[in-house]
Amino acid sequence: MTHLPTGMRAVEVQIEIGALEHLDEQTMDTAWMSLTERTALDSSVLRYYHVDLAIRCRSCGMEYQPPEPACLICPKCNAATPEVLRGKGILLRSIEAEEIEQLDESRTSS
Ligand SMILES: [Zn+2]
Repeated sequence: MTHLPTGMRAVEVQIEIGALEHLDEQTMDTAWMSLTERTALDSSVLRYYHVDLAIRCRSCGMEYQPPEPACLICPKCNAATPEVLRGKGILLRSIEAEEIEQLDESRTSS
């Protein structure tokens, strides 16, 4: 589990999802809620950033974006030797955290 500094709680967790990943965001959200319950990430929300697919052909070096993820044949030389530059996997981008509100004793005295 992710550890946050004491007194902080996560508000938003940003993740990048490659175009090759088939991820159901609703399922993720539900899983996230039960996974993070009573942790430092409790009640944080997931924010998804979609990363487009970028391919480089190993044969001719051409970089391109395939029209659809299943089509990885080079448009220039027709070689099926793709190297995925971007768009694969799920990455944690950043976690937004805020200080947990403390009971402010100085304000209650008036
Ligand atoms: Zn090529």
